[in-house]
Amino acid sequence: NGHGHKQVKRICCIGAGYVGGPTCAVIANKAPHIHVDVVDLNEKRISAWKSDHLPIYEPGLVEMTVLPRDGSPDRPPNLFFTTDVKASITKADLIFLCVATPTKYTGIGSGRAADLVYIESATRMIAEAATSDKIVVEKSTVPCKTAASIREILSAVGKPDVHFDILSNPEFLAEGTAIRNLEQPDRLLIGSLTTDRGLRAAASLVDVYAEWVPRERIVTMHLWSSEMAKLAANALLAQRISSINALSAICESTGADIDEVAYAVGLDKRIGPKMLKSSVGFGGSCFRKDVLNLVYIAQTLHLPEVATYWEQVVEMNEYQKQRFSKRIVSCLYTTLTDKRVALLGFAYKKDTGDTRESAAISIVNSLVAEKADVRIYDPKVDADAIWMELQWTSPNFADTQKRVTVCKTAYEACEDAHAAVIATEWDEFNNKDTEVHIREVNGLAVIGRSPSSYSTGSGMQFSNGTLETSPAPK
Ligand code: NAD
Repeated sequence: NGHGHKQVKRICCIGAGYVGGPTCAVIANKAPHIHVDVVDLNEKRISAWKSDHLPIYEPGLVEMTVLPRDGSPDRPPNLFFTTDVKASITKADLIFLCVATPTKYTGIGSGRAADLVYIESATRMIAEAATSDKIVVEKSTVPCKTAASIREILSAVGKPDVHFDILSNPEFLAEGTAIRNLEQPDRLLIGSLTTDRGLRAAASLVDVYAEWVPRERIVTMHLWSSEMAKLAANALLAQRISSINALSAICESTGADIDEVAYAVGLDKRIGPKMLKSSVGFGGSCFRKDVLNLVYIAQTLHLPEVATYWEQVVEMNEYQKQRFSKRIVSCLYTTLTDKRVALLGFAYKKDTGDTRESAAISIVNSLVAEKADVRIYDPKVDADAIWMELQWTSPNFADTQKRVTVCKTAYEACEDAHAAVIATEWDEFNNKDTEVHIREVNGLAVIGRSPSSYSTGSGMQFSNGTLETSPAPK
């Protein structure tokens, strides 16, 4: 290549989850000359990736995966899924770390700090299996300076004549739009040390992405900045959601319309219109965990004011979820006992089957505590996945089992219901026809998350239905 850096021929991606799977499908699709292995210890997940039923739902993912995985007459396959982690590491030039970094739930930093147990175990596997130089790339979201720990582990455990270069290449995809985000990223970050070796390693990774991403969108910077930029991006996105939700509470109490307010402020070019929709609060496996991780980092750096500032973003989100549940109770004359409530949507947002930290979970738990009968329907989350999630998260699972039914259609869920709650803004709930049909089943109150056809304005307001003639007590 004329720049003295190595050309990447084989990639091993450790972690076949929401990030590792789609990312590697896109790389393999766009760079047919690169051999891409996606490895995971979870056998069920790996066999699902090899089957007709991929383990995750993401628009466009099947199309992106099948060609490089199965090949075609004029193109040999170059995307492989395997549980043989070590064999794949040994052969790779470049290794992605795409393992989970969840919030620790016991011990030091419990409830805030990121648990780096999977990062460490994957790093040890790399150190043990590597017999030639490797570029190790952090793709997981990690605390600033994690690369330093990775380097220490690799040099302590790895063979003395094997050299490791460590890069940070955080992933910015959003579930539901992962394939589009990977094909046309706003930017790609590659962080490295500024030594000659570090810069050469970064150049090797730049070449991989330059197969399809315009060069000006590939940004290189220092390792620590790149690690920090991912936490910063998620903190600012979550903060924007909490900010608009904090304003929605004021709007509801004053008669101002939060959607009109959001539209008005979004016209200011400095603010912009995106991520300004009031809602029942953010969910998903990232925002809460990454903001809390930032809070923990600030605490360990003895910056309590900074920690408090970011902690409020998460507090406001919890408040908004509680507020939404209270709203349901007040809409139904302050008692839900034995009333039937349809819960439309269980995924944490539309166009994904992911239910991790979904706001729907806290709504179900509140409804069950109020002794409502809850009828759940989601177009992409099946009954098994819903029950699995509820089993983990219910304060009293026996009650939940007694009170919750998972339905196959929205209409089945709405039959004889007193109210329908839209917990996920799936397109199929956001159209006039559905609204009319749901009302035909039983002229019920529809309490929306945000689809505009249901709400008079705010995601927290509702089209009155039967309540129009007999308003709920305040
Ligand atoms: P995930 O839980 O879906 O996938 C992680 C996978 O890693 C699991 O399948 C697990 O079995 C596997 N794994 C763990 N240890 C392993 C080991 N030693 N060897 C092999 N496999 C191992 O997680 P995810 O949602 O893909 O997230 C991964 C990382 O990416 C996290 O740090 C997350 O914060 C970050 N991230 C996620 C998203 C998102 O939308 N999900 C977006 C950007 C960044």
